[in-house]
Amino acid sequence: MEDIRVRIAPSPSGNLHIGTARTALFNYLYAKKTGGKFVLRIEDTDLERSNQEYTQNIFDSLKALGLQWDEGPDVGGEYGPYYQSERFDIYPKYAQILIDKGYAYECFCTPEELEAEKQEAMQNHRAYVYSRKCMNLSEEEKAELRAKGVKPSIRFKVEHKELIFNDLVKGELKFDTNLIGDFVIMKSNGTPTYNFAVVIDDMLMKISHIIRGEDHISNTPKQILIYEALGAEVPKFGHLGMILAPDRSKLSKRHGATAVSDFVKQGYLTDALINFVALLGWAPSDGVEIKNVEDIAKDFRIHDVSSSNSIFEYDKLNWMNGQYIKKMDISKLTDMVIPFLSKYADEVSKMSRENLEKMVEITREPITTLNQMEYDCAYFFNKDVDYTEGMETLKKPEAKTVLNRILELADGWDFNSDEDIHEKLADFRTEFKEKHNIKPKETMWAVRAAITGRTKGADMAKTMTILGKDVCIYRIKKALEI
Ligand code: GLU
Repeated sequence: MEDIRVRIAPSPSGNLHIGTARTALFNYLYAKKTGGKFVLRIEDTDLERSNQEYTQNIFDSLKALGLQWDEGPDVGGEYGPYYQSERFDIYPKYAQILIDKGYAYECFCTPEELEAEKQEAMQNHRAYVYSRKCMNLSEEEKAELRAKGVKPSIRFKVEHKELIFNDLVKGELKFDTNLIGDFVIMKSNGTPTYNFAVVIDDMLMKISHIIRGEDHISNTPKQILIYEALGAEVPKFGHLGMILAPDRSKLSKRHGATAVSDFVKQGYLTDALINFVALLGWAPSDGVEIKNVEDIAKDFRIHDVSSSNSIFEYDKLNWMNGQYIKKMDISKLTDMVIPFLSKYADEVSKMSRENLEKMVEITREPITTLNQMEYDCAYFFNKDVDYTEGMETLKKPEAKTVLNRILELADGWDFNSDEDIHEKLADFRTEFKEKHNIKPKETMWAVRAAITGRTKGADMAKTMTILGKDVCIYRIKKALEI
């Protein structure tokens, strides 16, 4: 069997996009499933748009998602360097080979001349392809132009034919290469274009399967032609459908987060994110959607990947994230929640670890993203609470009766024991039902509103033991003053 080698080749011109994360995942899954290698290459040849911070963000995000590469910039490998910017000396050599074999030629056209060609094509309602004006320049003509200081670019001579390839995801695809003009492979400044560099790198890195977004489909015929001209083996291609926003437009910041690191900042767990992203174009054979990457890899087949676009449903992601939050180990979850409580950093630092974990345990149930914890846990921190939400409850006449009575009783309760407070509250509700015919839940609404300022929230007995007797009594008195 051939050695399977796949790659992800992001350009560091932004933080790792969730779409790139999906492409990375599908490559990773394919490598895991087939025992192949997953390579990371940083395509930073556009030095103006690339920056080290984005490169670091790509590393951190892929690692956080659990998509560790086998070869790449930091871990090395046999086929480096893995930064494209460190490979600049490689490309001219291959461009020269193409020139020598008659598959490429120097082009001295100025931007103005090319623009004029384009304008002319437009006026005649023709699709623009390069005129090949420079294809047959004699050596003397070229020398003359060079002497004038004109620096040539190098164009690939496109063979005109019907090009067919079998896409792993989309099936058979046909292209008429008449529609592809002779395209530039080396710019006049001596740097390669994307289509050229990507082929040379993939070829030298022995990439066997190229799985990427379908926005690259129009590049694929050009790339195949270069492989063929070099006499290299053409890799297999698989193009994934795009990820669209719920309104079916291109996913962008106005819909919500798009960078993995922004999702994390909002309180999405990377385990939930990667699970969710796997379902954009792929479905588990047993219908069970919540799965870790390892189990997904066992079940993954590239041929099952859907060729159509997927909709990025933020609602579904929220639901899934909530499922992960509910199941997560409480100590780990507490560690993750702490940064989201930075507003209360002082009080958090004063709280015992036991109480912190207990607080997280009793508040996590309705949470879908960790950033909701700041509001949901607020009443654990300040001595005074905001009564806006609970005001209506507290203004009811029975609330006063309930609160006056609990004030008499609570002093004798053991706030170190959840069970004790739990039982005492049960007796308290029964007493109000029997003596005053106040419904148990109404009794508890008044207690909750007084102690937390809220109409709903975490388990009341546990909330009270975390807060302690003094704070509870203080707040009940405050509520009675309303
Ligand atoms: N650097 C390219 C991109 O980020 C890579 C495309 C490819 O996979 O060939 O879009």
